Amino acid sequence: MNNSKIRVRFAPSPTGPLHIGGVRTALYNYLFARQQGGDFILRIEDTDSQRFVAGAEEYIIESFRWLGIHFDEGPGIGGPYAPYRQSERKNIYIMYAQQLLDAGHAYYAFDTPEELDAQRAATPNFQYDASTRMNMRNSLTLSAQETCQRIANGEKYVVRFRIESGEPIRVNDLIRGEVTVNSSVLDDKVLYKSSDGLPTYHLANIVDDHLMEITHVIRGEEWLPSAPLHVLLYRALGWVDSMPQFAHLPLLLKPDGNGKLSKRDGDRLGFPVFPLEWTDPKTGERSSGYRESGYLPEAVVNFLALLGWNPGDDREILSVDQMTRLFDLAHCSKNGAKFDFEKGKWFNHQYLRTKDNKEIAALFLPLLKEKSIDAPEAYVVKVVGLVKERVHFIQDLWEQSAFFFVAPEAFDEKTVRKRWKEDSAAHLAELTGILAQCKPFDAATTEETVKAWIESKAYHLGNIMNAVRLALVGESKGPHIFDITETLGKDETIRRIRRAIDTLK
Ligand code: GLU
Repeated sequence: MNNSKIRVRFAPSPTGPLHIGGVRTALYNYLFARQQGGDFILRIEDTDSQRFVAGAEEYIIESFRWLGIHFDEGPGIGGPYAPYRQSERKNIYIMYAQQLLDAGHAYYAFDTPEELDAQRAATPNFQYDASTRMNMRNSLTLSAQETCQRIANGEKYVVRFRIESGEPIRVNDLIRGEVTVNSSVLDDKVLYKSSDGLPTYHLANIVDDHLMEITHVIRGEEWLPSAPLHVLLYRALGWVDSMPQFAHLPLLLKPDGNGKLSKRDGDRLGFPVFPLEWTDPKTGERSSGYRESGYLPEAVVNFLALLGWNPGDDREILSVDQMTRLFDLAHCSKNGAKFDFEKGKWFNHQYLRTKDNKEIAALFLPLLKEKSIDAPEAYVVKVVGLVKERVHFIQDLWEQSAFFFVAPEAFDEKTVRKRWKEDSAAHLAELTGILAQCKPFDAATTEETVKAWIESKAYHLGNIMNAVRLALVGESKGPHIFDITETLGKDETIRRIRRAIDTLK
């Protein structure tokens, strides 16, 4: 390889919303590239026109924008190897299909779908390969003249890769070590279809990895079975010397039980499997996303990073910079990683409680707006600071803080029975006088003043505090009482206490 710079790519097919496993694959590529001072490329593999879904590419790009995972090259970004959308590279693949045909590594096949179905029906486990290809309708069994004639007549054909049987193929995987497969298990894969003039995934993927000078292919385990075929393609194209290194990442597994994590698991157990909300353009079916469910992108990234990799010790909270420094393919697990979504919630909680109040407020303000609450930003920032320790999601902030924005309309009956004593009204009436004199009205001064008054009167501290909380919050929850009074301010505090006295007597 003349270029020693590390280059990796994320190569999604725009066939629907990006699965969370795909996000993890992209993340590992990103961490690896950053650590090595390399390039990270986004390549859209859209050669399967049948499975193309409108909006999927935009969805993919928006997901990574939200997550803060940046590409150095890609559609909409540009780069020295553009275009990065395979449908715009059609002519390139034809050249390489031709090269394989010319060298005898590939052949034309004219078998109709009906003929192939008939073969499959007649022969159990039928495979188009060295043992069967000579019974089929292709350029190996037809004369050169007839082959040319059929093509000239516009007859539909595919180009198949000619795989010789009985040959061991070694794949070196940075995570799995050496994997050897016998070529007899592989079929003569279709590389190109004349019907739409497009290559299949295998050809386009190899050609582009080569032309884009990709040095490492880091992808999901589901692609491991394709790796031997890819090795053979590199060989046939004469590119073995520049073949990228493979690393196949472990599967994400169901949180409970065995098997691959699926969208159904998310629906069943109530967690998203997509980064952003997605509405299926055909059915209109809506799937939830991490963003809309109140997750912080940095929490999602941290959570995903540790599903299949560890930093070598038991650290869990890691910034992207730390992960970049520590990332190591050798510390990626071979075994599937259980998708522990409760852990995902825990990460979100950890990130929320340490995130800057102002930044959280910016995420909370739109939700307040939806509830027609028009509070000054500084007030929201202060409230967020008081309740963020208690929430897992941005949405939970409302439940914890509504009373800061709307005075209690009613008082929780159970709490009233328990907390509103016979002398509460009299004591609170006296308290309003104390509070009115209290200057400044910050938490520390107010606490000191109120406690001194309670002590001088030998009143019961707990009873009074409970009654005040009931008056201010409407129930027995919320942060430290004097943080509440400071935030509400003197007038509002006194107003709420008077209202409770009037209502509860
Ligand atoms: N287009 C394939 C996908 O959708 C790419 C697999 C690979 O990374 O080689 O995942």
